[in-house]
Amino acid sequence: MKFPWRGGSAAALLACVGCGVGDARPGAGVAAAFAAADVPAQRPGPFAPNRMGYVPVFEYHVIGAGPTEFHHTPRELQADLELLYRRGYRPVTVAELDERRIDQVVPAGYKAFAAVFDDASPSQFRYLERPGGRLEVDPTSAVGIWTRFTAAHPGWRNAATFCVLSAGDAGGAFFGNGNIQGQKTAWRYPKLRFLVRQGFELCNHTQWHARMDRYPDAFVMEQIARLALAVDSAVPGYRIRTLALPLGVWPRNRSIAWRGSWRDPGSGRTVRYDYPAVLEVAGGPNVSPFDPRYDGHSIDRIIAYRNAVRVTLDRLDRHGTAYVSSGAAAGRGR
Ligand SMILES: [Zn+2]
Repeated sequence: MKFPWRGGSAAALLACVGCGVGDARPGAGVAAAFAAADVPAQRPGPFAPNRMGYVPVFEYHVIGAGPTEFHHTPRELQADLELLYRRGYRPVTVAELDERRIDQVVPAGYKAFAAVFDDASPSQFRYLERPGGRLEVDPTSAVGIWTRFTAAHPGWRNAATFCVLSAGDAGGAFFGNGNIQGQKTAWRYPKLRFLVRQGFELCNHTQWHARMDRYPDAFVMEQIARLALAVDSAVPGYRIRTLALPLGVWPRNRSIAWRGSWRDPGSGRTVRYDYPAVLEVAGGPNVSPFDPRYDGHSIDRIIAYRNAVRVTLDRLDRHGTAYVSSGAAAGRGR
């Protein structure tokens, strides 16, 4: 059967290898302890299981008004989530997709999609400071919209992937620093910890979004390793397993996008990373992780611009080509 979208190149699916920052990893169990709770009991959905179906991975950047394809207003994000919910789609993280755990986290008879937020801008996670210093998640930021949606919709989860920068410009530094959009530098690490506690996935988008093809290998690996180090400082022991290519551009030596090392001259410590999942910027819905064409190191995405989500769902639903979960029992014994 022919599909309208290209799939990844044929490659063996890598086992979960994760990544590490150094060797000694006190608190390595922390990521597991923070893992999302099991799917709440829910009646099966209306669709027949389709383990070979496509999984759209939608990509968001700035959650706010603006003229480019990288702007999506809070109202548009809310409308996307409502549409996905109504059409029987339930969220998974990129990690869950890549680890072939869709059937374990999406109830039987529901379709799967992933949402990825790139660049760690304040528009994605903004705090409002209330009297007495109390911090409230801005309900118009992506995290505010998503967590409220979860609270109001049975079967939805805080399953989205945030591809973060630690030192990007214009506040693209763990969701805001230097009082940009009122965001204090001291809130950066607590924001990352909040996301992990809520069940969201953190993903490496490099230290400051360098175009990887313009730099030598050592520089590229430093960009990736420095971000890994910063995340480890914020959430000790957290295991990053996904990287999003800045601007979708590969380094000259592709493999250093997912595997490499860098020696921190400050501490003398060597930071190593080994990520099973790498996200492209475009390409259409991704093939199922059970499809022989699946390549975790080249996961296609769709920029969620204007009505891109609706158009994508219309095509998947018309052709009956979306991945549909068969439920937890069928997901075991892979
Ligand atoms: Zn980016």
